[in-house]
Amino acid sequence: MSRTTALSAATAGAALEATSIELRDLRDDDIVIDIAFAGICHSDIHQVREEWGTAIFPMVPGHEIAGVVSEVGNGVTRYKVGDRVGVGCMVDSCGECEYCKDGQEQFCTKGAVMTYNGKGYDGEETKGGYSQQVVVSERFAVRIPDALELDVAAPLLCAGITTFNPLKRWGAGPGTKVAVVGLGGLGHLGVKFAAALGAEVTVLSQTTSKEADSLKFGAVAHHATKDPETFEKLRGSFDLILNTVSANLPFDDYLSLLKPNGAMVNVGAPSDPSTFAAFSLIGGSKALAGSNIGGIPQTQEMLDFAAEHGIAAEIEKIGADKVNEAYDRVVNSDVRYRFVIDTATIGA
Ligand SMILES: [Zn+2]
Ligand SMILES: [Zn+2]
Repeated sequence: MSRTTALSAATAGAALEATSIELRDLRDDDIVIDIAFAGICHSDIHQVREEWGTAIFPMVPGHEIAGVVSEVGNGVTRYKVGDRVGVGCMVDSCGECEYCKDGQEQFCTKGAVMTYNGKGYDGEETKGGYSQQVVVSERFAVRIPDALELDVAAPLLCAGITTFNPLKRWGAGPGTKVAVVGLGGLGHLGVKFAAALGAEVTVLSQTTSKEADSLKFGAVAHHATKDPETFEKLRGSFDLILNTVSANLPFDDYLSLLKPNGAMVNVGAPSDPSTFAAFSLIGGSKALAGSNIGGIPQTQEMLDFAAEHGIAAEIEKIGADKVNEAYDRVVNSDVRYRFVIDTATIGA
């Protein structure tokens, strides 16, 4: 069994500190990835701080992983040493249920194994990407196209697929009008993907402070939701609203912005329950929906699409010594638009 250096939280809410961790012995279908970069997802913070229920400690967070294959198991066929690969939110699933067979491993009936704060089917606790190496089955790695740099590709593994999947499923494309609510780690990628898919994109943000960025990322308009006139002006405008914020929203107001047959899809997760009036949906035959990451085939499709259309995450690259500070900044929405850890600095 070999070891590597990772950033680990000893207990709930503890600061992340460099520590030595064990890597599992290579199985036939395993690859070793020398991690170059790991994105900081808001859900890392929720789990380190145990805000989403009981978590497993010590915890090495990180499910936006980009790196290079450094070793392969005997049975590996898809990757060779030197290949550029990524890993997202999952590292295993049963492979046999209807969802796994359909490439929607996130809905595996046996329960997909999460990249960290999870347990493998062998009972081993999983450790994530704030680390210099990780061992995963080749089935849960995806290829990062040469056109994408590893640092800006890392956030695509969670934030990218989380926004790409619902845009595709709900038909964002030429002739459609899409509103993206919130211009953060998820939202800025939602805008880029929706625009590249051919939709006319509007950003709905609390203020107009990020308007220039919205337009730079491909939106044609940016409106402040603090301005009550916004909801009057935009009534009945959109085919699709992609909600990326994790605060509770007045759903009835947002649903009024949809055209008949439109849909509002949520990928942000407020901690408290939300309410809405059924008539806000019934009147225009509207849908209020959610979306959960995406399967491995679609994650590959998303990366290939990003490479083809020049879509990259906007990042602030940091060393390991800045991660705890970065957590506070993420909570305060003080990042444009994703922190990415240079894993070479862990323990350095
Ligand atoms: Zn995430
Ligand atoms: Zn399954």
